[in-house]
Amino acid sequence: MHYIGPDAIITKRQEYFFPATAHFYKEPPQIVGGSMQYLFDHNNKKYVDFFAGVSVMNCGHSNPQILKDTIEQLNNIQHTTTVYLTQPMVELAQRLAEIFPGDIKRTFFCVTGSEANEGAMALARLYTKKNGFIALTGGLHGRTHLTLSVTGIPMWRLDDHLVKENIFFIERPYSADSSYEEAMDKSLQQLDAVLKSQGNELCAMLVEPIQGNGGIIMYPKNYLKKVKTLLEVHNVLLIADEVQTGYGRTGKMFCIEHYDVVPDIIVTAKALGNGIPISTFSTTDEIAKAYNRPSASTFGGNPVAAQTALSVLHYIEENNLVQRSNELGKYLKQKLEQIASPLIQEVRGCGLMLGVQIQSPSSSVTSAEITDIILEEMKDRGFIIGKNGLNRDVIAFQPPLVISKEDIDAMVVSMEAVLEQISFLYV
Ligand code: PMP
Repeated sequence: MHYIGPDAIITKRQEYFFPATAHFYKEPPQIVGGSMQYLFDHNNKKYVDFFAGVSVMNCGHSNPQILKDTIEQLNNIQHTTTVYLTQPMVELAQRLAEIFPGDIKRTFFCVTGSEANEGAMALARLYTKKNGFIALTGGLHGRTHLTLSVTGIPMWRLDDHLVKENIFFIERPYSADSSYEEAMDKSLQQLDAVLKSQGNELCAMLVEPIQGNGGIIMYPKNYLKKVKTLLEVHNVLLIADEVQTGYGRTGKMFCIEHYDVVPDIIVTAKALGNGIPISTFSTTDEIAKAYNRPSASTFGGNPVAAQTALSVLHYIEENNLVQRSNELGKYLKQKLEQIASPLIQEVRGCGLMLGVQIQSPSSSVTSAEITDIILEEMKDRGFIIGKNGLNRDVIAFQPPLVISKEDIDAMVVSMEAVLEQISFLYV
């Protein structure tokens, strides 16, 4: 293949993409290859991928075992309408019922996370016969009209054009200015107030069990239990958006398990297909009955995607990736916590979904600018890491779960060196 190179790609993006389209890095690499936890650019430079395409590639890039199953399925039957009978889709639905928490058993297959959240929201309306939604500030749920409307991160919203009616935001249980407990109490009080005044109009609350784009925000352990109890009083459903957190990412198969609570609807996407688009919204027998029209998606759960997802689940189980995420996540977290730098304010998250909150010790540079410099320097040293947060000043570590201890050690050594270099510049 002839590679046109990063400059030509940026020029074409600027010409043919929508103007607001963004990319990371001042000098972004052109990624042309991937193998498990590694990425390669057009100059054959190797990078250790600590972002996994925002928690998509849990099983690694071009995982040979999964690719083999995908290709075999491509050779057999690539696609037919999902209304016809095919085997991978039902086997996948059955396997998911085995691993989902509580009585969650029935699955509707879609293609993207946004579409699955949209479906979950329609289902909540059908079941409760009410219309309104509660969402958390700092949450992100997709790019369709309704999922954007419940997204609580200003930079992702097209504010003037979204649905406002019957959508209520409450503050997430996190604030840089107070303790987690205080922030939780405030959030619960706001929830209680909204439920008391609007409960008759509300059908569901959407929650990411750890906010990803919002800055790797994990809630106090009993927050979601208290939320669920309040919601139940008003017949309002809890939708767990596990699009970013699902399938082992946080050291449990699903992140909601950390909170000992079972949602009414669970939404998954990203890692389920390990790069092949597939998403789900799933619920109990009782709630599923409310979806009272025959309905299917053109591509949702097609044989190739469903067979790939089965292979992904098999790979996760066979290689103990959930446990690996838990153990290596603890190891990485400890190593990050041990870095002594005035630029690090907090390390948070769990499993292999960790965030480092960057702070600026100087008024001449913002924490977001420092974050960008760290990303660029780490990339030059061969490590792809992510960034997110409301102020774009949280470094995100969400590597493929197949990452090794040696990769972590090497990354942390580089991170320490980069932080040292930058503190020298700004302190
Ligand atoms: N929910 C969450 C938590 C997400 O992180 C994302 C994507 N970043 C979405 C929903 C939307 O998923 P998709 O881009 O596949 O539509």
